[in-house]
Amino acid sequence: MPTCRHCGSTYPREFFIHGNGPKTQVCVQCGVDKGLVTKEEVPVLFDKGTAGARFSAVARRYSIFLYLPFLWVLWAATLADVEPWGLFFLGLLLLLTLAAPVLFLYRGGRYSGDMARLSPAYDRPKGH
Ligand SMILES: [Zn+2]
Repeated sequence: MPTCRHCGSTYPREFFIHGNGPKTQVCVQCGVDKGLVTKEEVPVLFDKGTAGARFSAVARRYSIFLYLPFLWVLWAATLADVEPWGLFFLGLLLLLTLAAPVLFLYRGGRYSGDMARLSPAYDRPKGH
């Protein structure tokens, strides 16, 4: 992955502007900031709404793996010794833990559909 001359960040090729001279090896953000390209020329520089929607799609996809350990710790700290609720919630947690990977795979198609909808149409020019 190339590195931007101005900010030193590393991105995939499609996040760089195209051209020679001052436009060589410049990422889309620096290209817009330095006036080398207009915002309309670089659809891959997401506006705030698109970036937020993309972030929430990723968060929705992976959140289950974040709150499962939290629920286990919560169960172990509070409900483990309580009769009969400890056993009841242990079963519930086991069910949820076993269902998590299945749900993750099951929702994969919807996630890639959401991401495709939130990705701007953009053709990588020849040589890039
Ligand atoms: Zn840059």
